Amino acid sequence: MYEEIQPKPTQYKGIHYRSRLEARWALFFDYLKIPVEYEPKQFYLENFRYTPDFGIDNTTFIEIKPSTVPLGTLKKAQNLATQFRLNVFIFGGDFYEYRDMQIIKFNALGILSFDYDFRYCPACDALKLDNVGKCRVCQSELIEQTHTKEKVKYYTF
Ligand SMILES: [Zn+2]
Repeated sequence: MYEEIQPKPTQYKGIHYRSRLEARWALFFDYLKIPVEYEPKQFYLENFRYTPDFGIDNTTFIEIKPSTVPLGTLKKAQNLATQFRLNVFIFGGDFYEYRDMQIIKFNALGILSFDYDFRYCPACDALKLDNVGKCRVCQSELIEQTHTKEKVKYYTF
């Protein structure tokens, strides 16, 4: 198994992503119909600037990491969540290569969850990123989506 040393800038739908992994996530979010923006906002955290990789609706931000999530990333995400009252996700690993996939979430109180995943609601015909078994909109039973990642793999980047 090889590891990339330097991130490889990758273009997808006219947007230049700093790494191939970010472009893969952009593609995956597209497939999931999750309306993300790439690096939509910069935050001032204590004495440095922090730009999360993706944002949804100004309330949820997502940081992408190529491997197991480092402690520093967890602390930064927690500070962002509590200081600005946001939901902050960290997606660790590479779903495309099936490496060490982790989904970690901090809510606005800084509370950590490990039980979020992508699940499909047949009634809404939409994928939800949630930690509950039932759709919050229509109460239908959600279905695990283990095959979803396979479907985006024909994009060779
Ligand atoms: Zn639903």
